[in-house]
Amino acid sequence: MSVLIYVESNGSEIKKSSHDAVSYGVQVASKLGGTATVIAVGDIPQEQLIALGNFGATSVLNVTGGAFNQSNPSATAAAVIEAAKKVGAKVVVLPKSTLVDSIASKVASQLKAGVVTNVTELPETSSGFQVKRSIFTGKAFATVTINSDIKVITLAKNAYQGTETGGKATVEVLALSLTDSDTKVKTTNVEKMTGELLLTEAEIVVSGGRGFKGPENWGLLLDLAKALGAATGCSKPVSDMDWRPHHEHVGQTGVKVAPNLYIAIGISGAIQHLAGVNSSKCIVVINKDPEAPFFKAADYGIVGDLFEVLPKLTEAAKLLK
Ligand SMILES: Cc1cc2nc3c(=O)[nH]c(=O)nc-3n(C[C@H](O)[C@H](O)[C@H](O)COP(=O)(O)OP(=O)(O)OC[C@H]3O[C@@H](n4cnc5c(N)ncnc54)[C@H](O)[C@@H]3O)c2cc1C
Repeated sequence: MSVLIYVESNGSEIKKSSHDAVSYGVQVASKLGGTATVIAVGDIPQEQLIALGNFGATSVLNVTGGAFNQSNPSATAAAVIEAAKKVGAKVVVLPKSTLVDSIASKVASQLKAGVVTNVTELPETSSGFQVKRSIFTGKAFATVTINSDIKVITLAKNAYQGTETGGKATVEVLALSLTDSDTKVKTTNVEKMTGELLLTEAEIVVSGGRGFKGPENWGLLLDLAKALGAATGCSKPVSDMDWRPHHEHVGQTGVKVAPNLYIAIGISGAIQHLAGVNSSKCIVVINKDPEAPFFKAADYGIVGDLFEVLPKLTEAAKLLK
């Protein structure tokens, strides 16, 4: 039984979530006694495609040129559909991303497949095909059976850790021409942030709230983030007051993150903030108020003044490195 895995890059490198998806898809194929093929869309360096073998992939199809290089949803969906037909895929695995959110249902509808999003574990295949998915912004799980012949699943971020196995994949160009309906929208300009770790991809996120009193104190948070190799986030009021840029705002109305470690500093833990972080594997809260609601969602907590705790924590993190 053939499994197709879609991978995407952030413009220069294949994303960690795609590496996780490759490991996941290879495991699904092994459970089903089948083969796994990767479809990579866009101009991704050859050595990175070959290195997907390190996550268990043996065969990679690559579609490049024109709209395929532009993260164009219609063109990407067309490439995934064509690749799925070529390899006779019975399962299509897509790593959750903004682009994947917009193409998963199109891919499923064209392949007449059932689609399940935000999957967190390998499928149970002893009787039928059941997957567990995260629902209610990570507060609950649902077990879903997919009954269609072809199945499309999107893998939740950081739900499955890619394992490096060693090995090299063979890369084949998949020649594909586009119809007018594949190129109805065209990206005319991309402005990239440089030098920052992507919040949604980071393994560790250090996030700050109004407890910092003002933007002039943010250096304390940045120092800790640097020592830990973490991305930085903030609560909504912090970005509303322009202490930090809006793309760092985490929560119900901001970015949803699922890192292995989320460190919340001087954030009260309002339900709207928790909605964006409760899929994190481990939550550490630093707050001077022992009654702060965030402590109820925390795995570890420090009751203390952030201005005293952070310099010590940063020093300890530097020593660990
Ligand atoms: C529709 C709607 C959507 C929303 N969406 C979001 C969202 O997406 N994300 C979000 O974050 N918020 C959102 N909010 C706002 C949310 O309700 C809270 O108001 C907000 O999260 C509070 O931010 P805060 O914790 O930084 O500030 P505060 O609530 O002011 O908390 C500051 C915390 O810092 C602690 N503190 C103060 N000084 C120190 C110190 N020296 N050392 C240690 N701790 C200290 C305090 O004890 C307190 O717990 C939304 C609200 C609404 C109504």
